Amino acid sequence: MAGKRVVFLGPPGAGKGTQAKRVVERLGLLHLSTGDLLRDEVARKTALGERAKGYMDRGELVPDALIIDMIRGRFAQAKSGFLLDGFPRTVAQAEALEQITPLDAVVSIDLSREEVVRRLTSRRVCRVCGAIYNLTFNLTSGDTKCAACGGELYQRDDDRPAVIEKRYDVYEKSTAPLIAFYRKRGLLRSVNGELGSDRVFAEIMQILGA
Ligand code: ADP
Ligand code: ADP
Ligand code: ZN
Repeated sequence: MAGKRVVFLGPPGAGKGTQAKRVVERLGLLHLSTGDLLRDEVARKTALGERAKGYMDRGELVPDALIIDMIRGRFAQAKSGFLLDGFPRTVAQAEALEQITPLDAVVSIDLSREEVVRRLTSRRVCRVCGAIYNLTFNLTSGDTKCAACGGELYQRDDDRPAVIEKRYDVYEKSTAPLIAFYRKRGLLRSVNGELGSDRVFAEIMQILGA
């Protein structure tokens, strides 16, 4: 049987990346994070990376056509299912996705603006393996290395207060309409992202029937 085809929706900082890593490991899905793919393009200074960087630094969305071109070819390697993390983010992207593949579930992880700001100002990420940390709960002060691989921890350029506020505004305007879009299609399930990470994970596994 083919694996599950899942989308994670939710504002920046809701915990999509954190949960995605656990879910794909448990269910053997392909993890497709457009944010991670874009940051890789930027780091490698590709033509796409050079075009995307300004939008990302300002907290704006990268234009739909660039994102859709970047992601389209990836589904070929997703025969045992996939988890989309950070895509689609606009109705135009969701309509393009419908032309590429059907979905089994859309999980919306919800979080208030206040909590988003709190979490993202204290997020740290491993430059080597991408592990996600937070100063307030899984790093002790002075930790500068990744517990998993020893890599250097860094703060993302766009995890600064002004850019975080902008990203939340963009989420509300451009991405939140996807909640109604997927509810209409009978695919939407919501999880309270304020719960502890283990609780959120358990609820997602229940939704996915796994
Ligand atoms: P977060 O996990 O904090 O929500 P992401 O890593 O998903 O952030 O995205 C970082 C930035 O990359 C976004 O602010 C945006 O500029 C760009 N980006 C990522 N995914 C998309 C997408 N599907 N459409 C347009 N822009 C995107
Ligand atoms: P997203 O991919 O949606 O932007 P992340 O998974 O990167 O979100 O999480 C954002 C920040 O919040 C990280 O610093 C992460 O360690 C922290 N975090 C994730 N899940 C939880 C949770 N359930 N409770 C508290 N903090 C969390
Ligand atoms: Zn690491």
